[in-house]
This record gives sequence, structure tokens and C-alpha cells, in this order.
Amino acid sequence: MIFMAKEAKKAGAYKQGSKYCPKCGARMADHANRFTCGRCKYTEFKSK
Ligand SMILES: [Zn+2]
Repeated sequence: MIFMAKEAKKAGAYKQGSKYCPKCGARMADHANRFTCGRCKYTEFKSK
């Protein structure tokens, strides 16, 4: 949890309730128009 908080502060894009990567299970960064996985770089664009 300490690691996650540290990463969140660094990235500034992680939020609670965000998606989880379907490939590796890591929490994905919530960007304006997409979600990205910081571990495997999987990107999922928001449909809106
Ligand atoms: Zn991933």
C-alpha cells in the first residue's frame, strides 16, 4: 500500500475505483481518455 501511494503521487493519475489490467491485474492509471497499465503498458481507451 505504501508502494501504491508513492506511485500514485508520482504518476498523479491513479485514483481509487479505477480499472484493473485484464492482462496482469495491476491497477490502471485513469487518464482523461484512456486507462493505462503501468506494469505491462496495456492501454484501454474510454469509449466516450
Ligand atoms: Zn498490465
